Amino acid sequence: MRIGYSRDIHKISRSKELYLGGVFFPGEAGHEATSDGDIILHALSEAILTALSMEDLGSYYKEEESKNLSSLTILDFAIAQLRKKNMQISNVVISFTSEHILLSPKKNKIFANLQRILKVNSDQLSVTATRWEDKDNQYSECVVSLIVD
Ligand SMILES: [Zn+2]
Repeated sequence: MRIGYSRDIHKISRSKELYLGGVFFPGEAGHEATSDGDIILHALSEAILTALSMEDLGSYYKEEESKNLSSLTILDFAIAQLRKKNMQISNVVISFTSEHILLSPKKNKIFANLQRILKVNSDQLSVTATRWEDKDNQYSECVVSLIVD
């Protein structure tokens, strides 16, 4: 059994579209990033890599090479590393914090999509959300911890 953990932070940007948990939500403000800014997939991918004692995401995806990169590509890379070691996710906990991007109306879609990609049952995945309680806070944060066997 091995633990993986990661934390990612992105600034909310009205000029970027919203990709969250591998789902596209058209017409909503996204996150500042050279990639699609999918903060959940970034933290999730890196958490998988840390469980395998690999480096942080930035070591594999240089900023200048990540222009418009789909974060699903990053997650595919992380999952491939997991499969190479013959390991699987036992359970994963995703905690999202944002003042202006509300997760609750999006949660079911994100949950279903992550369950499909990670090939886990609903009792192996948890997605929770909270707010900063500060209207001026323009950042979203995602913390992911997981166990692989
Ligand atoms: Zn990120």
